[in-house]
Amino acid sequence: YIAKRKATVFELYDPALDSSSKQTLSLLSELRYAVEHHELRLFLQPKIALDNGRVIAAEALVRWQHPVRGLVPPDAFIPFAEQTGFVRQLTLWMFDEAARQWAGLQQPGLPLRMSINLSTRDLLDLDFPARLDALLDKHQVAPEGFCLEITESAIMDDPLRAEGTLKRLSDRGFKLSIDDFGTGYSSLAYLKRLPVDELKIDKSFVMGMERDPDDAKIVRSTIDLAHNMGLSVVAEGVENAAVWNLLREQNCDEAQGYYMSRPLPVDGFKAWRQRWAERAEA
Ligand code: C2E
Ligand code: MG
Ligand code: MG
Ligand code: MG
Repeated sequence: YIAKRKATVFELYDPALDSSSKQTLSLLSELRYAVEHHELRLFLQPKIALDNGRVIAAEALVRWQHPVRGLVPPDAFIPFAEQTGFVRQLTLWMFDEAARQWAGLQQPGLPLRMSINLSTRDLLDLDFPARLDALLDKHQVAPEGFCLEITESAIMDDPLRAEGTLKRLSDRGFKLSIDDFGTGYSSLAYLKRLPVDELKIDKSFVMGMERDPDDAKIVRSTIDLAHNMGLSVVAEGVENAAVWNLLREQNCDEAQGYYMSRPLPVDGFKAWRQRWAERAEA
């Protein structure tokens, strides 16, 4: 017992712990600073219809243009932002920016939907749908122009509350997508109950599916599952022509991946889309 007490007391004064909480505070204040001083960037990666090659959507992916560390990828700060709850501000910043850019991305006869990633924290926030309403209003855009991507684990954190939020978002007209499908603790019962429109097959199954027969079977089964449930299905992590062709043969609806384009700044995305359309016409 005494040893345990000692350990506890020691932990309280652990200089390592002390400095790590200092680190937490400084990263948090850096992130706050980043939002206020316009250091966050919205990048876009196309989602392309496999049957006709049209760009029908773009996923918004955050980057942090850090003055010292350069362009920081989301994996370096999103998990931290989720732990501290800061991710709620980040989601709203991304949605605000996406809604601001939305009109400039539309072309006659070629509507482009924008996908935004949500976190568990957003689903647990009862005010979240109303906050999105305010941003739609601010930019005069409609919810149907947006798809909200949610991971299975974000839903399973508190399924009842998540279900409530998702229903409210879907009732407004937002499209809903299950991201990284196949990697979380997916419950098919929830898949059946939730007002979801799209499944995104995780890139870990897609990237090497032309070499790995097990991955290919998982992808094929997921496409069938989605279609049998009336959902549209997207494969992320398409890195080469072989995978693109396999997905086409298997009637996958949309593809996203480095083979077509990496995530790009908005201007770069617009230029890429122009080249892509010209190549399709040629
Ligand atoms: P995600 O939502 O599953 O996004 C897809 C990730 O796969 C992106 O990584 C994208 O760049 C990458 N990817 C797409 N095609 C390929 C490919 O062909 N090969 C490979 N190797 N990777 C590909 P990114 O941009 O680094 O984002 C990582 C994760 O960070 C996202 O995964 C998402 O979970 C999170 N994230 C990014 N932006 C946001 C955001 O604004 N809010 C929240 N909550 N999370 C975000
Ligand atoms: Mg996503
Ligand atoms: Mg994903
Ligand atoms: Mg992912």
